[in-house]
Amino acid sequence: MTSVSDILRTMDYGPSPESPAPVNQWLSAHGMRFGHFIDGQFVAPAAGEYFGVFNPATEERLALVAQGGAHDVDQAVAAARQALPAWAALGGHQRARHLYAIARHLQKHARFLAVLESMDNGKTIRESRDVDLPLAVRHFYHHAGWAQLLASEFPAHEAVGVCGQIVPWNFPLLMLAWKLAPALAAGCTVVLKPAELTPLTAIAFAQLCVGVGLPAGVVNIVTGDGDTGAHLVRHPEVHKIAFTGSTEVGRMIRRASADSDKKLSLELGGKSPFIVFDDADIDAAVEGVVDSIWFNQGQVCCAGSRILVQESIAERFGAKLRARMQRLRVGDPLDKSSDMGAIVDGVQLQRIGQMVAAGRAEGLACWQGALEPPACGHFFPPTFLENVPAAHPLAQEEIFGPIVVSMGFRTLDEAVALANNSRYGLAASVWSENVNVCLTVAAELLAGVVWINGANLFDAAAGFGGYRESGFGREGGREGMHEYLVPKWLRTASALEEPESARLHPSAHPEPTAALAAQPIDRSAKFYIGGQHTRADSGYSFAVRSHGGALLGHAGLGSRKDVRNAVEAAHKASGWAKTSGHARAQVLYCFAENLAARADCLVAHLRAMDAISEAAATRQFEQVLERVFHYAAIADKNDGSAHATLTAHVTLAMNEPFGVVGLRSPAQSALLSALSLTLPLLAVGNRVVLIPPAHTALMFADLSQVLDTSDVPDGALNIVFGDSDDLAEVLALHDDVAALWYFGPATGAARMRAASAGNLKSVWAQSRHTDWTAPEQAQGGEYLRHACQVKNIWIPYGE
Ligand code: NAD
Repeated sequence: MTSVSDILRTMDYGPSPESPAPVNQWLSAHGMRFGHFIDGQFVAPAAGEYFGVFNPATEERLALVAQGGAHDVDQAVAAARQALPAWAALGGHQRARHLYAIARHLQKHARFLAVLESMDNGKTIRESRDVDLPLAVRHFYHHAGWAQLLASEFPAHEAVGVCGQIVPWNFPLLMLAWKLAPALAAGCTVVLKPAELTPLTAIAFAQLCVGVGLPAGVVNIVTGDGDTGAHLVRHPEVHKIAFTGSTEVGRMIRRASADSDKKLSLELGGKSPFIVFDDADIDAAVEGVVDSIWFNQGQVCCAGSRILVQESIAERFGAKLRARMQRLRVGDPLDKSSDMGAIVDGVQLQRIGQMVAAGRAEGLACWQGALEPPACGHFFPPTFLENVPAAHPLAQEEIFGPIVVSMGFRTLDEAVALANNSRYGLAASVWSENVNVCLTVAAELLAGVVWINGANLFDAAAGFGGYRESGFGREGGREGMHEYLVPKWLRTASALEEPESARLHPSAHPEPTAALAAQPIDRSAKFYIGGQHTRADSGYSFAVRSHGGALLGHAGLGSRKDVRNAVEAAHKASGWAKTSGHARAQVLYCFAENLAARADCLVAHLRAMDAISEAAATRQFEQVLERVFHYAAIADKNDGSAHATLTAHVTLAMNEPFGVVGLRSPAQSALLSALSLTLPLLAVGNRVVLIPPAHTALMFADLSQVLDTSDVPDGALNIVFGDSDDLAEVLALHDDVAALWYFGPATGAARMRAASAGNLKSVWAQSRHTDWTAPEQAQGGEYLRHACQVKNIWIPYGE
């Protein structure tokens, strides 16, 4: 036994175990067997199947849990559907009371839930007690607030409906809170599927829902594996899927839900950079690594798993980190003096071990912290692989374990290039004492969250979510609420259909008509790419006809190659994103001025295309001008916000443009709709590749001449015509197109969603009839929100 004098000499922590007794009693009281929670009750699975849930630290079976099948999912969705009208009609204040009660009860049972989480997941009690539980509680309090303020803060919006929510095993209760709280605040009802490895806190939460008197059917919990999740995703009566998990499963879900207009948010994997400049506080940065990659055994989506360290300090930094990791205590998760607990499962442990072994076999320098061989359980020591090449799988793939790799950089630009050299874009940490360096790097990083001189900071008031293959959508804050709301008008809007006249009529041989013969010189409409009027790469053209079928002229027939050229030109116009809002506004005002000068020509096009009166065409044109003014006015006002998160922190929510965005505009009110969609994208700094409807090609060719005379930089707006859906699909498949807006029929929308599953770009597909003349439908916040992705930058202050 260790003596007091030994302790005083070594200053080591003694064991301080938390008792598992209350959890064991709870498990025994339920016969160590749990059914699904449907319509306010626990029910046995229809097929009678159960699976085992194990403690990763002891490998003991904790319980048997119901395996959900299609029938169970159907029952749960039916209960959620039934509960929806009353829950939505309850009003914000009453829902706020329920959320507040949930928060209070979570607090009251925090100790029990923390122990249960640690036993189920293997995470240390220090983390479940001090991080997971307080954050989960905070989330319900915060969203009780949004419920209360819903009507005033989100006017003209309503709950999206029944939500299917699927969560991973790394933060089981916290991810549940991130999903449920905004959904309930918005007035949605939910079917939630916890991860099969860690369903127990969700089950305890279901009991808590009964305890606080939440109406039956508002929250339903169906346990099971990926198949259970897949049933939920495909269920036709689910209106929204919110998924947190791996990028691979995110892709499957994108594909499986492509042919429905379910709302979808995906919070996926990451390989986040941890960037240390030579003027950083090195000791603080080393501690930052501990919080970043050895928190929760590295099983954290936003873990800083790639250290980029400036070469001049790399050796010193490496030495300090190696020394620090030797002091980390890996062991019993229920011991309050353990720094790291167990890996969630044997399969995960094996995968981590294999990846590290492969790196070692290749001769990579590998350092590991101390780990006394455990008698049982899935433990892995903190591991640091130094000087790993940037393209190595260990530097590119999400390992999801306590493994960090490092590489050196010399300049700020090199650091940014290395940091962005990833298919992911979830989070990043920047360490420097120079605020200019920190903010310059933060602005350049392709990541949804950037922590300055910090790591793994979270708060319900700040949105969390990724760029690129880390998914789309945000959880937390105002941004997160929008994931569960829809504009009211959209609910009653009819399905969008496009007239036959808007279809493409390919023709390699122009047919002579009186109208064409009257033209002094044969003219075929050209694309507008990189500020040039460009012929179709294929050399083919198509006939453009009036509403009545008369031949108006010909236009180049766009192909994959033309779209690729347009994307390349848009990429080259990256300066547009960095132009100030004021400068962008001036460009848009100038565009309006030049448009007005071409009024006669454009009004004539509108009349010929849609067979409308001169007065109607003039009215539409006036609305076009007003819309340009609207977005010119907004260009310097689309501010982000400063969230009130942790003390001594400013969390800046920056509205950033996506980059290059593809846009397929609808046939209806063709000029007004195309500009109503293009302008918000341009106003916030995106570059656009626009595919207008084929039958409007002549008008858009004339519009591109207006662009020529305006100050819109070459490549900021590119226009290609042809088969709208074929060309939009090229944009959906293109890896260098960050987002796609598709306004067209449902069949095309399904095609775009499916095509985007590979690169997981954000697709806003809208297949409802929009009144483009009505500002409440056709302009404003909804468009600007979809035009940006929010980056949250956490900046500390104080000494
Ligand atoms: P996973 O993708 O294997 O499983 C996540 C959930 O999806 C589980 O509940 C699982 O049963 C379910 N599932 C599996 N196949 C499915 C299918 N075909 N259809 C529907 N549901 C299905 O992920 P995991 O291993 O549980 O968790 C680790 C992953 O989660 C990591 O990649 C991590 O980065 C990610 N993650 C992301 C965030 C974030 O906010 N971005 C947060 C936590 C974890």
